[in-house]
Amino acid sequence: MQPVAPGATGWSQIAWFMVLGMDLELLSTTLEELGEPGFRAAQVWEWTARGATGYDEMTNLPESLRAELAARVPFSTLELIDQAESRDGTVKALFHTEDGRPVESVMMRYRDGRRSICVSSQSGCPLTCTFCATGTMAFGRNLTTAEIIDQALFFRRIEPIDHCVFMGMGEPMMNLDNVLAACDLLPDVGVTNRRTTVSTVGWLPGIEQFNAQDRPVRLALSLHAADPTLRSKIMPVNDRYPLEDVLDACRKHWRETNRKVFIEYVMLAGVNDHTKHAKQLAAALTPHGAFKVNLIPYNPTGTGYDGSARTTIGSFRDTLLAAGVPATVRLTRGQDIAAACGQLVADKLQAAAVSEDDAVMTTAAT
Ligand code: SF4
Repeated sequence: MQPVAPGATGWSQIAWFMVLGMDLELLSTTLEELGEPGFRAAQVWEWTARGATGYDEMTNLPESLRAELAARVPFSTLELIDQAESRDGTVKALFHTEDGRPVESVMMRYRDGRRSICVSSQSGCPLTCTFCATGTMAFGRNLTTAEIIDQALFFRRIEPIDHCVFMGMGEPMMNLDNVLAACDLLPDVGVTNRRTTVSTVGWLPGIEQFNAQDRPVRLALSLHAADPTLRSKIMPVNDRYPLEDVLDACRKHWRETNRKVFIEYVMLAGVNDHTKHAKQLAAALTPHGAFKVNLIPYNPTGTGYDGSARTTIGSFRDTLLAAGVPATVRLTRGQDIAAACGQLVADKLQAAAVSEDDAVMTTAAT
């Protein structure tokens, strides 16, 4: 789609520098060599944030400058490797960074018009949750701010976006500086902080750092089991940061911001989906008003788990509701395109072993 022509002022040069990330030196050198004024950088960011697909669309830049930038400064830090679109409109993309690290992102289209993206904060993940496709991959590295925001810009070039969740590959709280820097840029791309959610499996130092900043970004905790032994079994991070300490940090977030913390709970058949597990969860989530539970249907991703039956998920939700805990069942999206983060990479690694029909999941890994 065509971007809206931007105005001449009001955009942050700092934002532009942050977007460029690894290319900052190259851009600075290029602009300097070309004798261009400083405001050119802000002009380029305006166009980019509004969905321009390349320098050639930036019509308030001299044509010669557009040509020079196209030849000398890469437009994105990410190279698109694969893209798939689900029957329900979900779009999934697999990128490589400049050093060949895989990165996955998803855009979900909802009937009410929302366009929500799920972005990655790391390539791979060091935390090895046993139900997660990303957790089976080797950890690469933290993504730069540029690599995070370039995921959003990719989808913005398809259509306007308005919600973002950091729930893709990686643990965002382990890369929080770059995640928050991306949050500062997302409003330019169409996603306000109030419509942005950072999800964690319970990396306590990151949650404490998150609590110390004042952006109105939402917090989500992937909890998945209230029983400590079970939680440690499926989420080894629980051994390092026990759930009660993590929940204390979440309660602090709620008290200080008056924003509920989303609790993500993936429904694993015969593992964490019994009525007793729902009662344990309700008992752990006190006060109930501080939390809202999202129950996530799960389908096999080659990790050895099965998803709970719909009726089981419904009963689990009813138990929570009866205990006074707000709870909903998340819509599954992108079931036909391996839309759980980590799945595209995992599928490529196991292409001979995993059929596309088996690659069914919700929109995110965590
Ligand atoms: S669920 Fe999240 S934190 Fe756990 S291994 Fe997967 S990406 Fe990492």
